Amino acid sequence: MSTTILSSHGTHTPLSVSDLPLVIHHGDLHAHWSEAARSKGFDLIARVQDRLHVALRCQPCGGVHVARHSVLMTAQPLCPHCIEARWHATAIAAGLTWLGRDTAHRHYGRYRLPCGHTARRQFTFVERVASGAVSARCETCLVHREEEEALRFGWARLHRDPQGNPAYRLYRHSCGHEQRIARANLQWGQCDCAGCGQSWTAKPSFIYLLDIRHPGTRRHYLKVGYSSRPVKRHRHQLGLPKDALVEVLRVVAMPTGHDACTREKAAHARLKRDHPQALVPHPEYADLMNVVSEIYRPDALSILHETLDRIEAAISDAARTRNPDHLSTPSRTAGGSDPEAAPDDPEARTPAASVPLVPAPPYPHRIPRPIAAARDRHPILRRHWGLTG
Ligand SMILES: [Zn+2]
Ligand SMILES: [Zn+2]
Ligand SMILES: [Zn+2]
Repeated sequence: MSTTILSSHGTHTPLSVSDLPLVIHHGDLHAHWSEAARSKGFDLIARVQDRLHVALRCQPCGGVHVARHSVLMTAQPLCPHCIEARWHATAIAAGLTWLGRDTAHRHYGRYRLPCGHTARRQFTFVERVASGAVSARCETCLVHREEEEALRFGWARLHRDPQGNPAYRLYRHSCGHEQRIARANLQWGQCDCAGCGQSWTAKPSFIYLLDIRHPGTRRHYLKVGYSSRPVKRHRHQLGLPKDALVEVLRVVAMPTGHDACTREKAAHARLKRDHPQALVPHPEYADLMNVVSEIYRPDALSILHETLDRIEAAISDAARTRNPDHLSTPSRTAGGSDPEAAPDDPEARTPAASVPLVPAPPYPHRIPRPIAAARDRHPILRRHWGLTG
C-alpha cells in the first residue's frame, strides 16, 4: 500500500479533487473493468482502499468518487458530485442557498432561507418549492412572530402543543401559569388565564383602520379608532347607512383598553398637528356617521399606516420591557424536527379573526449570514453517501 497524489483532469474545478491523497491498492487493473467504467460514463483511475474498491472519475463533471468494484460491474455507479450539483441547482431555483447535506439523514439537505435562518429540508420538498407548489417558510421566524404576539398580552410562547394539536401552543402567563391556547385566540388576546383568573375581556383592545365608502354620494374616508371589537364597531357605533361599504384595513392588537385609548388619542393629536390637510372637516360627513372627528382623507392612507406602525413598534417594545425573561425561554430551533411533518399552519385563524389584516412589518430577527459557507473539503473519496456501495 502507498499513498499517491492522483490528479483529476476534469476542467470543472469545483468538483475536481486534484490534491486529495488516495490510498492505492496494488492489484491488476483489468481492461474489462476500464471498459465497463467507460460504458457507464466514468474513467477508471485506480484500485483504492482495499481489493473491493475502485476510484472513478465522472466524465461529465470530472469529479472522483470511490465505488465498489461490484457496483461498477453489475450496476450503474452514481456520481455524488453530479447529484450534489443538482441539489445545489434546485436550491437556487427554490430561492434557497445550498449549505450541504444533512449528515444525519440522507434525504435531507441544509439550506439558508431568504430570511437568513438555516434549516434542514427534504430534497423532494425543495423540488416542490422550486416548482412553486409550496413555499419554504421559516419555522424559526414563525416562532419569533408567535413569541411577539403572545408577549403583547403578557404570555410567553413556550413550544408547540404537547397534545399535538397543530392549532395550539403551550404558553406561560406572566403569573407563571402554563396553559395550552389556540394560537389564533392568543393573536387576538382572547385567552383567560386559568392560573390567576385574569380575563381577556377586561384586557385587550384594538386600534383599527377602516375604509368607509358611500357609493350613493361618492364619498370615501378613512377612520382610525379603538375598540375591543373592531369588527362589531363600525356599523352599530358609527351609525352608518346600510349602503355604506366598510372594510377593516388593519387591526393592531393592544394589551389593554387603556393603552389603546391613550395611544389612539396621541396619534390623532399628532396627525392633526403634522398633517392637518389629512383631516376631513366634520360638516362634510356629519350626515353619514355619528362621529365628530378622526376622519381622514383616502390619500392619507400611508401616513395612517405609518402611525399604526409606530404604535405597533411601541407596544412591542413595552411588552419586551415588561417581560424581559422571555428572551431566555428556549425556543425550538430549525433543525429540531422534521419541517415537512410540522402541521403548523401559520395562516390558520378562527372565524373571529378573519377580518382582512395588513401584514405587520417583519420583526428584526434575522441572523447574520456567515461570510462564506465553508465548502466541505474532507476527502471525497471517503464519501459513499450510500450511493455506490
Ligand atoms: Zn459527476
Ligand atoms: Zn427565518
Ligand atoms: Zn395568569
